[in-house]
Amino acid sequence: MKDKLSTNLTHLGEKGKESVSSSKSPSITMSSAFVFDDVESLDKVYEKEAEGFIYSRNGNPNHEYLKEIMTSAESGEYSCVFSSGMAAITLSILSVVSSGDHIIASNVLYGGTFTFLKEELKRFNIEVSFTDITKDFNELFKPNTKLVYIETISNPMMEVADIEKISRLAHKKNAVVIVDNTFASPVVCRPLELGADIVINSATKYICGHSDVTGGIVTSNKIFGEKIEGLGVLYGPMMSPSDAWLLTRSLRTLDLRVKEHSRNALELSRYLSTEEKVLNVYYPGLESSESYNLASKIFENAIYGGMLSFDLKGGEKSAYELIRNLKKVKLVPSLAGVTTTLSYPAKTSHRGLNEEELKKANISKGLLRLSAGLDDVEDIIKDFELAFSKL
Ligand code: PLP
Repeated sequence: MKDKLSTNLTHLGEKGKESVSSSKSPSITMSSAFVFDDVESLDKVYEKEAEGFIYSRNGNPNHEYLKEIMTSAESGEYSCVFSSGMAAITLSILSVVSSGDHIIASNVLYGGTFTFLKEELKRFNIEVSFTDITKDFNELFKPNTKLVYIETISNPMMEVADIEKISRLAHKKNAVVIVDNTFASPVVCRPLELGADIVINSATKYICGHSDVTGGIVTSNKIFGEKIEGLGVLYGPMMSPSDAWLLTRSLRTLDLRVKEHSRNALELSRYLSTEEKVLNVYYPGLESSESYNLASKIFENAIYGGMLSFDLKGGEKSAYELIRNLKKVKLVPSLAGVTTTLSYPAKTSHRGLNEEELKKANISKGLLRLSAGLDDVEDIIKDFELAFSKL
């Protein structure tokens, strides 16, 4: 007897045609759960005695492709993938600290990270000391210091952290080092090779590179990785299979893209340094930068990343006008896309900071952050020249 419509609708189409060839590009496994023929197979996958997937919050084939590439790119043993950079950051921090612990963190960090450390962790009785990590901070360590949290290239002041030195110091005190490598990407810097324990990339930025995915990736050794992944399964911010697929594709061109972003950023920073309405340009690839020597030592490929920032002599008023005058360079509160874009840290990424905190982090109302794109740098310089001429 033929099965009824609802049975056919629900049961058919689950298996593709048998084939001797396979697809060149991985399929997207848009499945929230996986099917088992018997309890024995289910048990084996749970107990890690057999390869397999159970439920996509715990893992999915598309996560695995992405994890494999990122683990290699960041020279780690294990990667976890999440639905945003903030999920990667918060879960990594929570995997290291418990109530009563103390953290030392850079005072120039992505605004979301800063707010999490400063406000949210208070609820868990975790104390955070913010400091200028380019200076010696040995005296800040306490017996309960469990974590040092830094960014490879700080957002938005583009200061480079001496990851080797900081890791040596932290390890002497039995503290773990987490590095947010988002602005650099593994093409520019690989913090695990420099001694850090856990590295984070907001995949929304260079890992994606096309402004169409929000994601976060953590890379570390297996012990940290499994702990962070376990928290991910519990808290639930997993990456969708289609986003993992897109990021896998994006990674194919990461090396090319970041090198070109970096070349354009260097050109733009040199041009902006000659612009009379600009007070200061912050880019580690400029020989005048305080970070230049360190960056030249620890960065790969003699490149310095695609991000720079600059202060306008005319302050807030000039910032508003310049943004309005620019035609090709748009105001976008993100970075690392294919077009050159501008962000206004005091109004976007660092909006949550009060006046005193902004001052401490040197973020003025005339500071603009530039993400060098893959567009022709001469066209972008022309756009700036015209916009400045109208100020
Ligand atoms: N880290 C840095 C340096 C960032 O700039 C951002 C966001 O702009 C994040 C982390 C957070 O990533 P996401 O927006 O993917 O949560």
